[in-house]
Amino acid sequence: MVGARKVVLDEKEIPRQWYNIQADLPRPVPPPLGPDGQPVKPEMLAAVFPMSLIEQEVSTERWIDIPEDVLEKLLLWRPTPLQRAWNLEGALETPARIYYKNEGVSPPGSHKPNTAVPQAYYNRVFGVKRLTTETGAGQWGSALSMACCLFGLECRVYMVRISFEQKPMRKYMMRVWGAECIPSPSTLTDSGRRILERDPDTQGSLGIAISEAVEEAVKREDTRYSLGSVLNHVLLHQTIIGLEAKRQMEKIGEYPDVIIGCAGGGSNFAGVSFPFVADKIAGRDVRVVAVEPAACPTLTRAPYVYDHGDVAGLTPLLAMHSLGRTFVPPPIHAGGLRYHGMAPLVSHGVREGLIEAEALHQLECYEAAVTWARTEGAIPAPETSHAIAQVIREAKRAREEGKEEVILFNWSGHGLLDLTAYDAYFSRKLSDYALSDEELRKSLSSVEGHPRPE
Ligand SMILES: *Cc1c(COP(=O)(O)O)cnc(C)c1O
Repeated sequence: MVGARKVVLDEKEIPRQWYNIQADLPRPVPPPLGPDGQPVKPEMLAAVFPMSLIEQEVSTERWIDIPEDVLEKLLLWRPTPLQRAWNLEGALETPARIYYKNEGVSPPGSHKPNTAVPQAYYNRVFGVKRLTTETGAGQWGSALSMACCLFGLECRVYMVRISFEQKPMRKYMMRVWGAECIPSPSTLTDSGRRILERDPDTQGSLGIAISEAVEEAVKREDTRYSLGSVLNHVLLHQTIIGLEAKRQMEKIGEYPDVIIGCAGGGSNFAGVSFPFVADKIAGRDVRVVAVEPAACPTLTRAPYVYDHGDVAGLTPLLAMHSLGRTFVPPPIHAGGLRYHGMAPLVSHGVREGLIEAEALHQLECYEAAVTWARTEGAIPAPETSHAIAQVIREAKRAREEGKEEVILFNWSGHGLLDLTAYDAYFSRKLSDYALSDEELRKSLSSVEGHPRPE
């Protein structure tokens, strides 16, 4: 079977359990801290999340069963194909074999419904009627809107204002799935009103939108909040990607030398890689590389600190690489890679030497995305292009070293709703942007005095 272009799993072969890396970490991930500086007790999160998700958040069980009702919905598009990028390999004249998980085949077009579906399910079973969330470019908002629709929940999405205005398409998708999409900051919440008083023309940010969505969930008994990345249970749900990939590679007798994913909050990267990181912890030789934008260099330049997940400081303190919660990202076009923090499990993995991190500039990423589209056909999301650019770097290195390496990466989503960004690229309106030390210092002042993880 070596020589396959596409490896598909039968529906019966879909993984029935998620993999929880917390069971295998050499040192445990530092716990979230409450306002008193003490580890947060699970009950303290109950106003925000249903108990079953809080249990997953802190669980150290290695395998967690995927409920039947969740599998039934995931089967709408899963298992996703493992594909081989033969044409790209040929164009690069590399001896490397490049495989990718195509997460662009989901209804909203990215990996995000892998967690939206179980989150909606657990909230529904818990008796919750409404979910709130935030969204940047709209990928998460649209994924949660679909999931809520499938399980009969109401959904309100606070969308970062600049995207609400400039990228209306995903807002329209949310409407098709019956959700309500509000530009953030809004006048519906105290956090939103406070920001608008200070800065009426603000373009908004993910951190502000999180504050609004969390505030509303805390204030309403029938409402909980849902987060699309960063948290342990989100990364857990995404491991279905890597678990499928492992089975698919086994079928053709392959195992990756290097695994690559782009990292915004860390969920698609963790999803493809954690089942392989398990092998690495057990002694197997495999490189795992997270790729972020040089304009938002969380893993490569930000300190490992305790910081809030949102601007208002409503969330517990998470042990993570963070650029500071007041970080306002420069307007690069990969909207999904602009968050100020990084998943505690990914941050911890970097600290433990299990995960490497790279920061790339956007022009190299767009060039890679265009090379991809002109060889493999599909147009990738600007976020995904960061993974592709790193794949191309690794494939060229393999060529120079004359090594037949096996590369696996996560094709996290398609870019069919990001074509204006491609247009800007072709019109030479995009430029590279590196965060200056001065800007970094300024945004890091918001973590001054925060405790440091051990
Ligand atoms: C949201 C998104 C990302 C970044 O989020 P992670 O949590 O880091 O995975 C990457 N790619 C696509 C297509 C996305 O929609």
